[in-house]
Amino acid sequence: MFVVAEGAVLVDCGGSPVQKLRRAGVDARALGCVVITHVHPDHAYGLPALLQNLLLLGRTEPLPILCRPEHVEPLRSVLAAFQLWERPGMFALLLRGIEPGPGAPALELGPLVLTTAPNAHGSMPNFAVRVDVRPRGASVVYSSDTEPCESVVALAHGADTLIHEATFPARDRGRFGAHSTAEEAGMIAARAGVRRLILAHIEADYHAEVEALAAEARRHFGGVVEIAQELVPYPL
Ligand SMILES: [Zn+2]
Ligand SMILES: [Zn+2]
Repeated sequence: MFVVAEGAVLVDCGGSPVQKLRRAGVDARALGCVVITHVHPDHAYGLPALLQNLLLLGRTEPLPILCRPEHVEPLRSVLAAFQLWERPGMFALLLRGIEPGPGAPALELGPLVLTTAPNAHGSMPNFAVRVDVRPRGASVVYSSDTEPCESVVALAHGADTLIHEATFPARDRGRFGAHSTAEEAGMIAARAGVRRLILAHIEADYHAEVEALAAEARRHFGGVVEIAQELVPYPL
């Protein structure tokens, strides 16, 4: 979630989104756009609940929902299954496929500029997101789910912070396909030249050893390494 005075952008939507926004001190009515990087459940299953809650909160303004072109139809089907698509009285859902890659920004909202790059998540089309805050120049890149890949290095080049997935430790390499280890996240951060790496998307089996995962990344990256924390604000 990226929040500025002009509004907020939610990137991926897990469970209980409105409740989580509230606990994080963000007014859900300020939402200016939702981005769904891919249609694995942990990234998209909260979308129907989010829209239902926004309707109950009295939203009337249209809501852009950006995704890969391949995912427009699957998301439309999910929303239709929950009777949220073309529902009478529903605010407009501007579901739009974007082809990730260099070129025009996918979105501009106040000082926030979102650009994207395709990543490498096996057979699942997916993309990484970069948010620049203009004119200050603060910038954050979110890898979404991916194997280590050059396009994320390029997207994160010169950014302040890289939020990179680190699903598992290097010792279990091969356990999960199309994901990254903490070691690989550290290597990507080093090559991108970011100041700070935030490790995210750590598989539940490893939640008791997150500090060891951070240490693994630090062996390859000399910058700041942190573990992502839910509902904690990070000033841009
Ligand atoms: Zn995924
Ligand atoms: Zn995931």
